[in-house]
Amino acid sequence: MKNQYDELKARELVRTYSAVPEDLALRVYTSRLIGKDPYLVLHGGGNTSVKLRKRNVVGEERDVLFVKGSGIDLAGVEPSGFAGLELEPLRSLRYLEHLSDEEMENQLQVHKVFHASPDPSVETLVHAFLPHKYVDHTHADSLLVLTHQKRGEGLLKEILGPRIGILPYLPSGLPLAKGILTFYERHPETEGIVILNHGMVTFGEDAKTSFERMLENVSKADSYIKRKIKGKPLVTPGVGLSLPKNPATSSARFVQTVRGACAFPTPGGKLRRFYTEIRNSPENVEASLAEEAQSICGSGVITPDHAIHTKNRAVYIDAIPEDDGDLQRRVKESVDAYRVAYDQYVSSHVGTQEREREALDPYPRVFLVAGIGIVTLGLTRKAARIAADLADHTVQVKLRCMALGEYQPISESHVFNMEYWGLQQKKLGKASPPLLQGQVAVVTGGGGAIGLGVAHQLLANGAAVVISDIDESRLKKVHSILTNKFGEGQVEKVVIDVTDYESVVEAFHEVSRRLGGIDILVPNAGVAHVAKIEDLDPKDLKRVVYVNLMGTFNVIRASIPIFKRQGTGGNIVVISSKNVFDPGAAFGAYSASKAGAHQISKIAALELAELGVRVNMVNPDAVFGDDQVSSKLWDLVGAERMKSRGLDPEGLKAYYRQRNLLKAQVLAEHVGNVVVFFASNQTPTTGATFPVDGGISAAFPR
Ligand code: ZN
Repeated sequence: MKNQYDELKARELVRTYSAVPEDLALRVYTSRLIGKDPYLVLHGGGNTSVKLRKRNVVGEERDVLFVKGSGIDLAGVEPSGFAGLELEPLRSLRYLEHLSDEEMENQLQVHKVFHASPDPSVETLVHAFLPHKYVDHTHADSLLVLTHQKRGEGLLKEILGPRIGILPYLPSGLPLAKGILTFYERHPETEGIVILNHGMVTFGEDAKTSFERMLENVSKADSYIKRKIKGKPLVTPGVGLSLPKNPATSSARFVQTVRGACAFPTPGGKLRRFYTEIRNSPENVEASLAEEAQSICGSGVITPDHAIHTKNRAVYIDAIPEDDGDLQRRVKESVDAYRVAYDQYVSSHVGTQEREREALDPYPRVFLVAGIGIVTLGLTRKAARIAADLADHTVQVKLRCMALGEYQPISESHVFNMEYWGLQQKKLGKASPPLLQGQVAVVTGGGGAIGLGVAHQLLANGAAVVISDIDESRLKKVHSILTNKFGEGQVEKVVIDVTDYESVVEAFHEVSRRLGGIDILVPNAGVAHVAKIEDLDPKDLKRVVYVNLMGTFNVIRASIPIFKRQGTGGNIVVISSKNVFDPGAAFGAYSASKAGAHQISKIAALELAELGVRVNMVNPDAVFGDDQVSSKLWDLVGAERMKSRGLDPEGLKAYYRQRNLLKAQVLAEHVGNVVVFFASNQTPTTGATFPVDGGISAAFPR
């Protein structure tokens, strides 16, 4: 492992953060070095601290511990990501025999020096008790490979040498902090301590020393493992296991099915759905087809900290049946068995807790699927990704561990105590989820003004959104507007030619592989053409019909197998037009094709109700874009319309405003609000048309 510590960069960061003490800026620097190495820590795992002298409000000098905030990712940590706590009162806790969860949480809050700083790390007491200025803690992969060996303790002593202490597993919180301090007091020459089945703590009087001690020991473990397993195959190919005929299609079918099987109703009756994430590196696919696959899934987490993200056990799926019905049965059986086992796990351990624990949902988070690799579930996309990264490292750690000797799992009660520790569960957050969280929406015609408005409102209400368009450059532009506002994680883009059924099917598989499936479909792609019937070239009519009618039909049809595999209902909200009820002259191609699309949508409402899929239509009138994203339709017909009415662009907008009852300008966002309303199942409605036109009596639905 390369030592990335760079004196110049460290100085640069000290200058950047000149408003905070230099020692804290250096703490930020080495914390980020640790956070950026996934072989040291993953996603908010690990924690670091520094002790400073600070003057309080009445001018008294106090020792203050700055410890990383709970769940904050070290890779991008800022000085404000560290919580300052009065050190002395925390240190006196060492004399307690026992500290309840509530009192521990209380102590970590009441000794904060700034009320708005984040919740301190769950390992705060370890940092407080050790006397060193800097303390670093990681769950490095290579140390976990060794601590899980049957003779891990002896092996680690041999490899890391006499300056490193080895402690048996101790529950996080007061017991671990006391264990580490007692060991240190007996062996003051110690430079670091490995906690079996958990990770490592190093310390020092300056940031560099503490960091380099971590790196040195992890590197020693790493070199040892590499030397020992060199040339050895990590897996034994499993008998009777093989790649599915078409892994890309199979993985899409699998995630759609598993997502449906794991969706669960909340006490309020709302369905909670998961997003999925696939990790199909060659190593993961190889592991999924190995004899070891089953035991990898059954042997639990590699450090208890992972359990809130991945649960202790994973599910192994040894084949993906070609038939959808068989696949659904297979997945359901596995998920049901998992739920029963999880409920048993909770009921057998919950009595050991000092206070009542509300059971978490019993659904698995990690699957290893033959020929596909790792598939994870998360109630948010971030949660699915965290679980995937943790599972990915878990598989590799276990394979190395097995190649070295025998993997020793962590006792279930240790994992339970960590998973159900109040301080740990706080990381999951208790706030009620946004309206559409868990749902995946696909918006076609995503490169235009209405597409942007609809995607924006869906995102603002918590859905993950895929925008699609045939025009890649428009798609890119809208994608960047949306990601700037909502972050990379929630928005995806995919090029679709809605007139080509196969292209739609392929794109929907791709959407599923990225997110898990589709719950909200918004057929919105459309084109227009201005010509009186006597001048309308049949070729132009055909082109418009292909996009507006066939395009709507194609996306609805391609979504049906997905809704079926998921089995959790869904919503199709078709962006129709005011013209369907109130057509205009010289606009036959558009109005007729939209009327066709409207009618096919009503038929879909009839046919898909039995799947719980609702189909509703929105009829907007004259939605113009803004300076950033124009309406494709108005780009095409605006000039003609202005010419025929002798108006400029502003005049045209005013004209459309004046012709409706409310004298309102219709915005893309208004259309988006209706999509959100339908998509959130607030009324039992299907086959309905919702006008968004400011009120035009000729276009009243009938
Ligand atoms: Zn830890």
